[in-house]
Amino acid sequence: MPIIVLDPGHGGNDSGAAGNGLQEKNLTLTIGLKVKQLLEANYIVDVRLTRTSDVFVELSDRADFANDLGASYFVSLHHNAGGGTGFESYIYPGTSASETGRCQDVLHVEIMNFLSGYGLRDRGQKEANFSVLRETSMPAILLENLFIDTVNDANLLKDPTFITGLSNAIATGIGKALKL
Ligand SMILES: [Zn+2]
Repeated sequence: MPIIVLDPGHGGNDSGAAGNGLQEKNLTLTIGLKVKQLLEANYIVDVRLTRTSDVFVELSDRADFANDLGASYFVSLHHNAGGGTGFESYIYPGTSASETGRCQDVLHVEIMNFLSGYGLRDRGQKEANFSVLRETSMPAILLENLFIDTVNDANLLKDPTFITGLSNAIATGIGKALKL
């Protein structure tokens, strides 16, 4: 059965971005746990998280964890900051023509199908030399789910119905990307 690694960004003394009463590390863990639950309820998969509580994990340890498991897919969960709005996804530079890019196409579209219902902006499918993307040996993606420091985005991130819907879109997208 395929192994999927979900990577809730930040944790412990690294809170990640903060704003509007939210901390990135808490949201990424909440969504990671929900996506795991949804994937395991709907598909025959083994879903592992790089952290399951509020602890600090080095970036290289997150990649090593997935590499050692021989995971089929690595999905890193983050929230943006800096005053923008909407959603963007990242893959390692130069991998758009590979399985990594094909999976990004599928997952990005599935998530945007959900988010566009809230009028949220598609900031695009991007590439970046992030260490978890560089150091993982399987297809990998990093999701920036809205802006924690933008009031409209943060209000959605505070809404449990929205979080469940977003988690469902991520799980469904992973299922389609991996043809589960
Ligand atoms: Zn982050």
